[in-house]
Amino acid sequence: MMPSIAIVGAGPSGCYTAQALGKALPEARIDIIDRLPVPYGLIRYGVAPDHQGTKAVTRQFERLFERSGVGFFGNVALGRDIALADLRAQYDAVVLATGLSQDRALGIEGEDLPGVIGAGRITRYWNDHPDSENDAIGLGRKAVIIGNGNVAIDLVRILAKVDGEFEGSDLGGHHLNGFRNASVESIDIIGRSPAGVAKFDPVMLRELAKLTDARIKVISAAGEGKVVEALAAIDGHDPQDAQKTITFRFGWTPARLTGEQQLQEAHFTATDGSGETLVLPCDSLLTAIGFAGSEDVPSPEASEDGFIEPGLYATGWFRRGPRGTIPENRADAQAVAARIAADLASVRSARPGRDGLAQLVPHATDYHGWQRIDAAERTDCPADRCRIKIRGRNQMLDLARQKGMQ
Ligand SMILES: Cc1cc2nc3c(=O)[nH]c(=O)nc-3n(C[C@H](O)[C@H](O)[C@H](O)COP(=O)(O)OP(=O)(O)OC[C@H]3O[C@@H](n4cnc5c(N)ncnc54)[C@H](O)[C@@H]3O)c2cc1C
Repeated sequence: MMPSIAIVGAGPSGCYTAQALGKALPEARIDIIDRLPVPYGLIRYGVAPDHQGTKAVTRQFERLFERSGVGFFGNVALGRDIALADLRAQYDAVVLATGLSQDRALGIEGEDLPGVIGAGRITRYWNDHPDSENDAIGLGRKAVIIGNGNVAIDLVRILAKVDGEFEGSDLGGHHLNGFRNASVESIDIIGRSPAGVAKFDPVMLRELAKLTDARIKVISAAGEGKVVEALAAIDGHDPQDAQKTITFRFGWTPARLTGEQQLQEAHFTATDGSGETLVLPCDSLLTAIGFAGSEDVPSPEASEDGFIEPGLYATGWFRRGPRGTIPENRADAQAVAARIAADLASVRSARPGRDGLAQLVPHATDYHGWQRIDAAERTDCPADRCRIKIRGRNQMLDLARQKGMQ
């Protein structure tokens, strides 16, 4: 029998790995497992609802399941529904591609106050991730965003947009009526470093100049380079009758957060050592400073090509940390696939693979189940939306299990 390989995590890294393995080991039997009944990880649940073009990368991954014989086991969480040792007993190789979903903490006083919200939590919320099913997020009038990467820009843009600017997106109507239209008036975006080393994509910065209801101020964007140029280009954007103000500030380190039972002020000190301080009154503070792993999946050290120990590999954000765009996971996936192909070159497999796994996780959903969820989301949505996501896990599972309705 040809070797069997299980990839845990159906995000971009897991899918790129399946693609690369399909080329490196064409006869291999490949399955992708995800804790959710739906594939694609942060493409579905991280990428902003108004960036549908970015989400279109899923079309190339659909081919894996529809044409290349890759299996999908949804609703199976490694560490909860199946132990790693049991999974490894079924397959010749297991690749961990579970990403990093926990918001990194600021590590300052006042961080636990209501009103302090991680970027992961709020983006899962507005992307209708099932883990946010019972969440309710209000932001108040003054929002502060900490972070100098593209996730921070996503937060700014979504908070600053008005209804008509979500045409063609998959943002649910309940969000328009809820946190987003709850009269956010000021959005301050703060970074520790000078503007010249901020990790913003200049294209995403320039996109902010299309906002129809927000003026933009950039304070002390010293330095050189494309980011500084883009900041200069959007500084002073001032549409008529704009109700919101976005202010970029650089060179401030968060020091502490204060408030009585609810966040009221964010305190910063100047990063340049001058001793200068800044106090921003705020109702909410969103942190976009990176992500960490969860306890369900162990995170042993992996080499550059993803090798952990014979038969066990890692790739994507899970291996490298929370850095890089969707396409940047591809090189990682190709490296791990090459390594697996070399390691399994002479393996004559006696492992059960898919059939063995199916017996261990009879509650798993399959790719047809995802297709039914996908179809329902696209069908039951208003004309100005491309889909409205089903947020309830049970509702998704009910649809996924309606056999005979493909
Ligand atoms: C808010 C946000 C916005 C972003 N926007 C963009 C963008 O616009 N453009 C861009 O190019 N990049 C963007 N990125 C970066 C991009 O999402 C990442 O590069 C990419 O998703 C990392 O892929 P991954 O497969 O390693 O992880 P993930 O996409 O996180 O996939 C991990 C998968 O593993 C599953 N999983 C987790 N734990 C378990 C378990 N125990 N058992 C089984 N399955 C499990 C998860 O459900 C998930 O499906 C964004 C990131 C974030 C956080």
